[in-house]
Amino acid sequence: MFACGNWGSNIGEIGSRGETTLYTPYIYTPAGALLRNPTEVACLSSGFGWRGSATGGGRLHNGLDLANREGGFIYAAGEGRITEAGPRGGYGNVVEIDHGHDVRTLYAHLDDINPRLRRGARVEAGEPIGRMGMTGNATGVHLHYEVSVDGLLVDPLQYGREAPAIF
Ligand SMILES: [Zn+2]
Repeated sequence: MFACGNWGSNIGEIGSRGETTLYTPYIYTPAGALLRNPTEVACLSSGFGWRGSATGGGRLHNGLDLANREGGFIYAAGEGRITEAGPRGGYGNVVEIDHGHDVRTLYAHLDDINPRLRRGARVEAGEPIGRMGMTGNATGVHLHYEVSVDGLLVDPLQYGREAPAIF
């Protein structure tokens, strides 16, 4: 996973080539492994947590922003059941998946949503759920990706790394 362009302020540790140094492909959760990056192709444009501005203001950012001007497919991070598929205010077109064990993922600003996905439908891990877009409050084409565990939003870039092997 690489940072987009100017290597923003809240995207964590970045290596000399612009890579996010702590990246691993799966988030290990009580519901099993989830994709850390559920996009076809994207770079990291904003991280989780405080997003400051040059004027001194700022706000909390509840997920990861994964950007690609060309759009591309968004995939279900893991298997589960659809709890929401449709427009939600500033989030634009949203898909939310309940993976069981109190683990949920949410995908916002989608250009379109796989028409099969009604509330209650089952999805497989890696199944295309829609395409990246900029519906709702978005200044560019990107996915806003949220992961919650036990009702708390977690940092999708940091949470649930594979534990190092202990011998
Ligand atoms: Zn976002």
